[in-house]
Amino acid sequence: MQDVVEKVYEQVVARNRGEVEFHQAVHEVLESLGPVIAKHPHYAEGALLERIVEPERQIMFRVPWVDDAGQVHVNRGFRIEFNSALGPYKGGLRFHPSVNAGIIKFLGFEQIFKNALTAQGIGGGKGGSDFDPHGRSDAEVMRFCQSFMTELARHIGPSTDVPAGDIGVGGREIGYLFGQYKRLRNSYDAGVLTGKGLAWGGSLVRTEATGYGTVLFAQSMLATKGESLEGKKVLVSGAGNVAIYAIEKAQQLGATPITFSDSSGYVVDEAGVDLELLKQVKEVERGRVADYVERRPGARLVTGGSVWDVPGDVALPCATQNELDGDAAVTLLRGGCGVVSEGANMPSTPEAVEAFQKAGILFAPGKAANAGGVATSALEMEQNAGRTRWDFATAEAKLTGIMTDIHDSCVAAAEEYGRPGDYVLGANAAGFTRVADVMIAHGIV
Ligand code: NDP
Repeated sequence: MQDVVEKVYEQVVARNRGEVEFHQAVHEVLESLGPVIAKHPHYAEGALLERIVEPERQIMFRVPWVDDAGQVHVNRGFRIEFNSALGPYKGGLRFHPSVNAGIIKFLGFEQIFKNALTAQGIGGGKGGSDFDPHGRSDAEVMRFCQSFMTELARHIGPSTDVPAGDIGVGGREIGYLFGQYKRLRNSYDAGVLTGKGLAWGGSLVRTEATGYGTVLFAQSMLATKGESLEGKKVLVSGAGNVAIYAIEKAQQLGATPITFSDSSGYVVDEAGVDLELLKQVKEVERGRVADYVERRPGARLVTGGSVWDVPGDVALPCATQNELDGDAAVTLLRGGCGVVSEGANMPSTPEAVEAFQKAGILFAPGKAANAGGVATSALEMEQNAGRTRWDFATAEAKLTGIMTDIHDSCVAAAEEYGRPGDYVLGANAAGFTRVADVMIAHGIV
């Protein structure tokens, strides 16, 4: 890391004590910026780097709610409005017990560059709560969402800040959040949230977009080597929104996904995942992965180790941050893996990324590979603003075009800064320069 960049990183660590995921995300971006600053020193002027690592606004609030037994709970709510250079803050809400300020900050920081890569005029933000929806009734989830939105509503709006889903926040939660927003504001602002239901302003392909995009990115990377996903064995982690639709697109492109997981273990299904059964278990019944194995002869549930112990050609980590460490990377490489496309945000640890890059395999960081979700959210905003709705084929064609453009921008930036094939440098450099140019144009704000 160059001196100037190193100094900014040290300041981030000193100012944000204990927020290790945020430090990790900032380090990964700053590390890539050495060659960019060397070529364009003006990006280090006007404290631009110091400004880009500091959120424009951080909101933290109490979320009291009452469970079905009448007991009162107090959760914590967050919204980090990180950077609005390119447009309204945009990024999901995560409901998971592990959520804290550092996690939301890391996600918000990543979102700035991811959103810039989509070229759609959206700034970066993220939010959530340490509320755990697992095992809660619909009525409890509704009361929690209503309490959460009662505070959040004053900070968001279609031209200000537009949240969406993330871990623990899917169509059900977005529905309850939107209902409460509408009630508080007495205004049908469809563009205030994305990931909405199709009957009330949602976009076709938004549900599928992140998983589809991750696989399309893998396909684009393979194409640079004259290969494709056809006939490849694919390892997927997670069994939520991103994982399910990554499996669907991989199957459509002729690959065979053989694994998925949740926090209770992972499943190996050598015959290829039965997607209809997986959707029934996870999307309809909100069950555990063991429920799939019970109904699927030949599939096995493994409760120790990780999905990365299974040999395969392509790995799609689609669960959560730091789920794939250095040892897992070595095991994956030994098992013959030649492509990693991150569906989750920062799922590979720095040691894992280093191992992949040293081995020279195709590795795509989440901020590029999973940008299809937020890109389609921006398409949803566009449809809401025009009071129109595109059909599935139109929306999917736009998603495919955007993923191809992101891939090509990463390739071009990696070449420009002297590291061809380095998608980490490419994504960070391409995303950063788009945001930085506009921050310079807007002056010191
Ligand atoms: P979901 O809540 O739909 O699914 C998450 C899946 O990952 C579940 O199977 C969950 O298992 C598993 N998981 C979550 N945390 C852990 C953990 N700590 N240990 C083990 N398993 C875990 O979330 P999404 O699919 O929406 O999100 C997955 C990832 O993709 C996240 O990193 C998210 O930030 C990222 N992402 C999502 C986008 C979207 O559009 N939804 C857009 C871009 C990125 P369990 O149910 O047992 O907890």
